[in-house]
Order: sequence, then structure tokens, then C-alpha cells
Amino acid sequence: MASISSYARSVVLAEIASGMWLTLKYMFKPKVTINYPYEKGPLSPRFRGEHALRRYPNGEERCIACKLCEAICPAQAITIEAEPRADGSRRTTRYDIDMTKCIYCGFCEEACPVDAIVEGPNFEFATETHGELLYNKDKLLSNGDRWEPELAKRLEMNAPYR
Ligand code: SF4
Ligand code: SF4
Repeated sequence: MASISSYARSVVLAEIASGMWLTLKYMFKPKVTINYPYEKGPLSPRFRGEHALRRYPNGEERCIACKLCEAICPAQAITIEAEPRADGSRRTTRYDIDMTKCIYCGFCEEACPVDAIVEGPNFEFATETHGELLYNKDKLLSNGDRWEPELAKRLEMNAPYR
């Protein structure tokens, strides 16, 4: 019995020694981890993150309320209501996305004929409550205003694949 226990002890010590050696070996190698959220890794221009509704440079909404995005959404996450304006143009009066239903497939973005609804690079939009992830038109337009330079750049980079 004594020889078995001393054998077991030596195995354990050998394991500790090899673990420490491994630690020492990697201590002087370049780090493979990053200090998120202060450092961030590269993001593909095709990454599909938080949604945004874009405007034209003159501030007019791009969305023409065609409802193609609503129709194609496999998760039925988009709800649109629309009516014509006084000038005859058609615009949404309601544009909601239930972000808790969304599966980030990108179909809405692909279906949109005027590049109005897009999925941007933002992936840091976790919330504490369900209600905060029920986006309305104001929220989506403000996302568009906030991310427009990035969104325009990504659309340009992805143009050959569309
Ligand atoms: S990304 Fe897909 S699931 Fe999400 S709103 Fe667009 S079409 Fe619907
Ligand atoms: S976001 Fe695009 S696809 Fe959806 S209703 Fe507006 S114009 Fe049509």
C-alpha cells in the first residue's frame, strides 16, 4: 500500500511540475487574449450586428415603407405601419423590431431596395430588460444617425457581393 501511495504522490508532483513548466513557457510568449472591453479584435465588414435605419444626406428617411423587410423576416420580428404624407410620398408611421426574436439572418438588409434597414457593427447592446430590446422607429433612426459613417463604409465594401 505504501508503495502505491508514494507512486501516486510522485505522479501528482510530476503533474504540478509539468503544469508550472507550461506556465513558465507561455509567460514569455506573445499574449493571445485581449483586454476586452478596452481592446477589441477585428470585425468583418460582413458582421451582422445591431439594426439601424439610415437617412439620406439631407436628413430624409430612406425607408419607403415597401414592407419587403417585414415580409421576408423569417422570425416575424419586424412590424411596419405606413401612410402617405401630404406630399404623396409613402413613409412608415411605425417601424418596430423585436430584437429578442431576431436571428440576425440579414434578410431584411438584403431585401431593402434603398439600403434603409441595415445591420451595423455594434454588438454591444445587451440590456437588463426585455422591453429595452423592443426597438421602435426612433431608436432605429438614432442608431442610423450614430453609426452612419461606419454603415456607409461597410455597404461600399460589401457592394461587390450584393
Ligand atoms: S436580421 Fe433576419 S430575423 Fe432579424 S429582423 Fe432582419 S430579417 Fe428578421
Ligand atoms: S426598410 Fe427597406 S425594405 Fe423595409 S420597408 Fe423600408 S424600404 Fe422597404
